[in-house]
Amino acid sequence: MKFTEIKHLSHPQHTLTLVPAQEPYSCDGCKQKGFRLGESSCYECKQCNFHLHEECAMPESSAFHPFFKTCEFKFVENVQGERRCDACGKDVKGFVYQCQHKKAYDLHPCCMKLERTLNGDGVKLYLREKVSSRLKCLKCKSKNVAEDFKGWSYESDCGQYCYHVACVKDLILENWKKGQTSDTGLQIMVPNMKDAVEQSGRGKKGKKFNKYLTKALLVLKLIVSAIFGDPIGIAVVCFEQLLSS
Ligand SMILES: [Zn+2]
Ligand SMILES: [Zn+2]
Ligand SMILES: [Zn+2]
Ligand SMILES: [Zn+2]
Ligand SMILES: [Zn+2]
Repeated sequence: MKFTEIKHLSHPQHTLTLVPAQEPYSCDGCKQKGFRLGESSCYECKQCNFHLHEECAMPESSAFHPFFKTCEFKFVENVQGERRCDACGKDVKGFVYQCQHKKAYDLHPCCMKLERTLNGDGVKLYLREKVSSRLKCLKCKSKNVAEDFKGWSYESDCGQYCYHVACVKDLILENWKKGQTSDTGLQIMVPNMKDAVEQSGRGKKGKKFNKYLTKALLVLKLIVSAIFGDPIGIAVVCFEQLLSS
């Protein structure tokens, strides 16, 4: 069940209310820039502009993840030292799930909760610990998010589409900052976008490319929904504006 009002130790002075997020916020628990949007997606103290992801406000005291079969993760509010999330590669600056091993793994609460499979409009995506050998992430055109870091990705069941979770996160945040309708964002999202547009309507090749493009956008939309919240949320609406501009 969901509590519409809670008291939280990280903000003891006021009651927090569960609200639908209207715009990007920074979570005061995990300190992740970014947001989860949707129906009832974060706990807020309006007065103080304080926000907590639902995942951060209501954590499980211990959790398991199929990618780390021997690890038991505990929810930690204050991590020591410099840590990096083993899913998205971003810094850990606040709330985190950390495993009990000496060389511990860290997962942001929202990364811990990423769906293993995504489904929509005939497309199925699988969460992967690393990019499959025959693929590359379509955004960064690489297997690894950073030189020494692979990072999780979503891969389509047809084996043609693959994006790092980190790359999709960056993409949306960049575009949000720039104003959602910049078409440069679009071009980064789908490689050869320009070619595709130029070719559109010109014979067989153009048609094939447009089909590829349509599916690539669908794939991205699913991943955006998984990262940023429910599929009818604002992220997707903005995303669609971005795509139709
Ligand atoms: Zn959070
Ligand atoms: Zn407050
Ligand atoms: Zn472990
Ligand atoms: Zn993460
Ligand atoms: Zn990438």
